[in-house]
Amino acid sequence: EAFNAAVAEAAGLNAFIVTTPDHALAAADAVDAKRAKGEDLGKMGGVPIGMKDLFATKGVQTTAASHILEGFDPQYESTVSQNLWDAGAGMLGKLNLDQFAMGSSNETSYFGNVNSPWRKAGSNAAMSPGGSSGGSSSAVAARIAPAATGTDTGGSIRQPAAFTGICGIKPTYGRCSRWGVVAFASSLDQAGPMARTVEDCAIMLEAMAGFDPKDATSLKMDVPAWEAGLSADLKGKRIGIPKEYRMDGTDEEILKSWEQGKEWLRDAGAEIVDVSLPHTKYALPAYYIVAPAEASSNLARYDGVRYGLRDLPDGAGLQDMYAATRAEGFGDEVKRRILIGTYVLSAGFYDAYYNQAQKVRTLVSRDFAEAFAQVDAILAPTTPTASFPLGSLNDDPLTMYLNDVFAVPASLAGLPAMSVPATVNSDGLPLGLQIVGKPFDEQGVLNAGLAIQ
Ligand code: GLN
Repeated sequence: EAFNAAVAEAAGLNAFIVTTPDHALAAADAVDAKRAKGEDLGKMGGVPIGMKDLFATKGVQTTAASHILEGFDPQYESTVSQNLWDAGAGMLGKLNLDQFAMGSSNETSYFGNVNSPWRKAGSNAAMSPGGSSGGSSSAVAARIAPAATGTDTGGSIRQPAAFTGICGIKPTYGRCSRWGVVAFASSLDQAGPMARTVEDCAIMLEAMAGFDPKDATSLKMDVPAWEAGLSADLKGKRIGIPKEYRMDGTDEEILKSWEQGKEWLRDAGAEIVDVSLPHTKYALPAYYIVAPAEASSNLARYDGVRYGLRDLPDGAGLQDMYAATRAEGFGDEVKRRILIGTYVLSAGFYDAYYNQAQKVRTLVSRDFAEAFAQVDAILAPTTPTASFPLGSLNDDPLTMYLNDVFAVPASLAGLPAMSVPATVNSDGLPLGLQIVGKPFDEQGVLNAGLAIQ
């Protein structure tokens, strides 16, 4: 009954692409059976979670919210989802997202916009849940799922978490296997949990993470006991405030919440230190070269032969089928990325764009390495603004891209980064704060998050 009520509510938010109640119920039954036998219930025994529809789930349609994958039922399970099932979790359904995880508002999905459960005070306009993990943020914020998986290539866990007043952590690149996750930009893509609390994120990340021989970039490291290590006592910790993040166009109220965040961390015993990340302003432009470049290569596999959609006009040859399938199957934003990516990788432009962007990426990483010689973690806003009404940025891709200006540097450097809810603004909309940590120091990130939460 509760499930059906939740599904009805979910239908209003359009958070789910498909629901899988039997999967969640089977996990609940398995927990009952284990309990009866006195067996260990598992880290997430019986917990019904939402699965971003970017993770391949065996026998359950996996679309990346794209027409081109409609009807694709994978023959295999992604490592991350399998890890979650092994920990006892069950799946409520596959969650909507921006098509191929490209977007910041969940408006590029072939399956329609996702609504946030939040409204501006005094307005009934449907608000964006953020993106690309907008189905995840919406379902968790609306209390339809206690937790959901997300993926973050350049902010897609953190920005939707900030927009909807929930927590989300992108671990160090390589912590969670990318095997079976529909690829966007492989050198940046990372899975992570989205949940109501820092504690829940710690539990779920422990279940998701771990070395996987099937992913060549998987970290060969044990998964620390993050939940057991949680502590909001930051005595002896130094937290850096990057001066370059005080950017024009950032909401006054967000700057104020950043100040408040410093106070909370001071109260928890931390010392607040100014740091400089001089190449910050080049990170976003570099991201919008590197990510589309990788996407244009990754998305070459959707050819009308191997997956989902095939458009084979009468009397058409192979090339015609490729062209027709891709023209029909990809949305506008995906095509924009493929065009940019193909351009920046083409002979003649490669050195001017792609190579330069890779150099910038190295400089951004070095900035962080230098800052982390002085501090244990960095505190910054997650986004420059609060959520916005659906439809309000559709004609303005550049402003849309700016949503991730604070999120992208940590992505380029592969660092663990988390958004935690800080406060609500004068419109009654949630604002998030971001903690960025040293490589492999998810614990430090979670603990600072706990002090803010
Ligand atoms: N909004 C960013 C983009 O569109 C980031 C997306 C993501 O992290 N998947 O590329």
